[in-house]
Formats: sequence, structure tokens, C-alpha cells
Amino acid sequence: MKLPTDPAENLAALIRCPSVTPAEGGALTALEAMLKPLGFAIDRPTFSEDGTPDVENLYARRSGNGPHLMFAGHTDVVPVGDEAAWKHPPFSAAVDKGEMYGRGAVDMKGGIACFIAAVARHVEAHGGPKGSISLLITGDEEGPSINGTVKLLEWAASRGEKWDASLVGEPTNPDALGDMIKIGRRGSISATITVNGRQGHAAYPHLADNPVRGLMTLVDALLNPVFDKGTKDFQPSNLELTTFDVGNPATNVIPAKATASFNIRFNDSWTAETLQAEIHNRLDKASGRKKYRKGRKEPVEFELVWRDRPSHVFLTRNDKLIDALAGSIKRVTGRKPKLSTTGGTSDARFIKDYCPVVEFGLVGKTMHMVDERVPLAELEQLTQVYQQFLADWFG
Ligand SMILES: [Zn+2]
Repeated sequence: MKLPTDPAENLAALIRCPSVTPAEGGALTALEAMLKPLGFAIDRPTFSEDGTPDVENLYARRSGNGPHLMFAGHTDVVPVGDEAAWKHPPFSAAVDKGEMYGRGAVDMKGGIACFIAAVARHVEAHGGPKGSISLLITGDEEGPSINGTVKLLEWAASRGEKWDASLVGEPTNPDALGDMIKIGRRGSISATITVNGRQGHAAYPHLADNPVRGLMTLVDALLNPVFDKGTKDFQPSNLELTTFDVGNPATNVIPAKATASFNIRFNDSWTAETLQAEIHNRLDKASGRKKYRKGRKEPVEFELVWRDRPSHVFLTRNDKLIDALAGSIKRVTGRKPKLSTTGGTSDARFIKDYCPVVEFGLVGKTMHMVDERVPLAELEQLTQVYQQFLADWFG
């Protein structure tokens, strides 16, 4: 039987499945076909929750005597955008000048294709590693992430699955393969502030209470001073205002209401809870300030609503895992990867509750873009990195 040792072939099969979240699109069936001949036992649980679409996921395990490594990823992809703008159709897996085109080529069907090729080569050459390998693959990473990794981890753990380490195959490299391993992620919280004022004539401000002034007072307190200067492993925490809405069409009317939303990416000097407390504290103190509201006796009347679930900050400290991966990257690419905690959140934030987790995949330059594509040479290189990592980690 022919084993799936060629990452380009594996990737082409996956790209041809139009698995835009939440559609399975045939991608998990394609994975199953690759994993069966390698001796994996496969489950495909579907998870549901009110108000979100059902999502199918895949858990595959190849059992052996020794430690257990979990590879995690997702087969769902973001929408293609303007299909006519693509040089090659987004689900065609066309190869042009040594690059394979397709939605998900780097984020992250490519990473999955390479990992499977690496396992297949290991099985072909040595009969497989001395230990267990599992693939935890969700179809809900690019969507609401509700019926995906979180539930799949709970589902597997409730069946007695235990992992010693996890490798997430998301695209982590900014420019070249070998640039960067992610060993942690910043946390993220978001909220909306609403300030209620009193509507009135712009020429008679003393009869009104301008909520824009109130909102400026509060926002000023959120931006100053900065939260911290960064830590050994993380960049400084940062707050970005993402909306500032008044929605007032008139220039001679003081509006009744103003709202603003913000998102904070925070480092390990904070937890979501301590940072939320800091925000409440700053707003309460600022509400009485006069800078923008001279002559006002009453404090700014506001309401703060936290949005979504907080994402918690984490940092992986596991020398065996990090050294095996960094060493494999150095050996194959000649590059010493930066150990980084930059960027957005990923499903690693859920996995860290079960075992140490690191992330390494392809170069992320074209992810989510029109003409997402990956050089075939890079697929081969990542496969070799994963192969070396399997050899070293299972040692
Ligand atoms: Zn991704």
C-alpha cells in the first residue's frame, strides 16, 4: 500500500475540499484516507451548541508504548473573498512556478499535510515511533471556535486520553521557514463602554451633558498610563480602541449617547481578572475628572460590558519539547528559531490546560489573502523538520 509520504500530494487532496467554516467539505474524509493506512484509529465527533452551526471534528490515534505526542490543527479555512481575483481557483491546488495555490495552503492544511507525510516516512522507514501519536483536528478554528478544539479536548480527555506534549502546526514564520516557534501567546480581552449623557442644543451646552466629553475622559484613562513595559518573554500589553461611535448626523445637536469598544492584548504581568479589575478601577477614578467636562458636578455615567470570553495568557516552559523542535529546525533549515509569544491567539490557548504546547508551521505571509500559496520546497522542508522532531522527541 502506498503511504502518504508526499506532502504536496496530501496538501492538494486537502485544498480540493472546500471546507470553509463550518463546512467539513470532504477535508476530514480526505484526512481519514491518509491516516488509516498508517495505523490510526479515527473518530469524527460532531459538536453542537445553540446559536452556532454543528461542526465535525477528527481525533486520530496511533498507539504505541511510550510518550504521547499530539499534533493539533484545523482543516477549516476562511472564505476565499473575490474568487475572480485569484490567479488560480482557490480550491484547485494548482501548481505554478513551484508554488501550490489554494485557500488553506499555509493556514493550515499545509502544516497538516507535512505532519502526515512526516509520520508516513517514519512508519515506512522505522515502523513508527516508540510511543503514541494523535491528531486533534478541528473544523471550527476560523469560526466561533465553540464546537472545535475546546470540546474535542474535553471529549478526548473524558475517554482517558492523556498527552505529554502538543505541537500545533499553524503558520508561525514571518519570512522564512525556521524563523519562529511560538512558545506562548498573549491574552486578549474586549469590552464596550457606553456613556449616557443628555441631548441638547450645541449652543446651550450647559443645558445638556455631552457624552462625547465623558467618553473622552474615560478613554483617556484607558490609554494613560501604559499598562506595563513588557516582560522577559512578552512585549508590552497594548490597548487598541476598535470603535468610537456617536452616530449623530447633526452638527448643532449634542447627542444623548456615545460608545467605544476596545481590545487589550496582555502579557504575563496580568491575568484576565487582574486586568479587568484595573480597567474598572481606572474608569471609576476617571469618571469624576474635569479635563473635558469643566463645571460638571456629576461624574460620567457609564456602563461597561465585557465581550466574548477572555483568552488567557500562557507561556510554555518545557525544555525537552522546545529543544527537540528548535534543534530539528536548526538541523534542517540552518536557522536558529526565535522563541516568540507575539501575534494573535490560537487554539494552543486551550491545549495548554492539558499539556505543554508549542507551535511551528509554514511561513504565514499569504494566509487569509487572495492567492494564498506555498512553495513546494517549503512543504518538503517542513516535512523534514517534523520528521526530525519525531525522531528526536520520541528519541
Ligand atoms: Zn490557522
